[in-house]
Amino acid sequence: MKVAIDGPAGCGKSTIARMIADNLGFLYINSGNIYRAVAYLSLREHVSWRDASSMIALMQRHRFDYLPDGSVLVDGDALLRELRSSEVDAIVSQVSAIPEIRREVNLIIRQIADAKNVVSEGRDITTVVFPDAELKIYLDASTQVRAERRYHEKVTELKDHLSIEDIKNNIEMRDKLDKEKPVGALKIAQDAEYLDTSDLTIAQVYEKVYKILMARIAHGRK
Ligand code: C5P
Repeated sequence: MKVAIDGPAGCGKSTIARMIADNLGFLYINSGNIYRAVAYLSLREHVSWRDASSMIALMQRHRFDYLPDGSVLVDGDALLRELRSSEVDAIVSQVSAIPEIRREVNLIIRQIADAKNVVSEGRDITTVVFPDAELKIYLDASTQVRAERRYHEKVTELKDHLSIEDIKNNIEMRDKLDKEKPVGALKIAQDAEYLDTSDLTIAQVYEKVYKILMARIAHGRK
């Protein structure tokens, strides 16, 4: 079974996807982390994201894999904190707009997901990566709420000192780029369940998603 979740930054999709994966024994695939890993490598190896062919060559020089917690292995080394930096935040949407990079990332995700129960989240999982997913969810929330969530994450996990305003600006910039991409743009799939999480706790969102998921599983068994 494939569960596909899309939505903008800070809508809660990684948390919900991980909870589903943990509670149901599904494999969790965080697609944004591969785009983040490519962005991180471009900074580390001084490759400009504006140079699409060098970016593709960069991607092909490295091997990408996933750990069950959603962190990405690059050539066998786990990256997690490195992927959440503000430097990566600043360029990841531009990196992910390169169609050839999207094609490579989609191949990696489909290969890892093959014949498994998977919950995957990102921007184009419901529309491009797994268009036949048994369950599609689109999570949303207001920009202010999403910026506040990211702010608290960054302060507690990354000990980062960005202001909410800086984070909100980055989120707005990424939302715009993500919605306008020629390939793999963020949009609400026609057959997706839409959930606005602005006024919901994580537990409330999970409960709603879990109910929908159980109904789909029961329906599939009939
Ligand atoms: O989900 P997260 O915010 O970590 O993703 C980082 C960036 O990767 C997004 O802003 C988006 O530009 C890109 N992305 C994408 N398609 C996906 C997942 C992420 O373009 N399926």
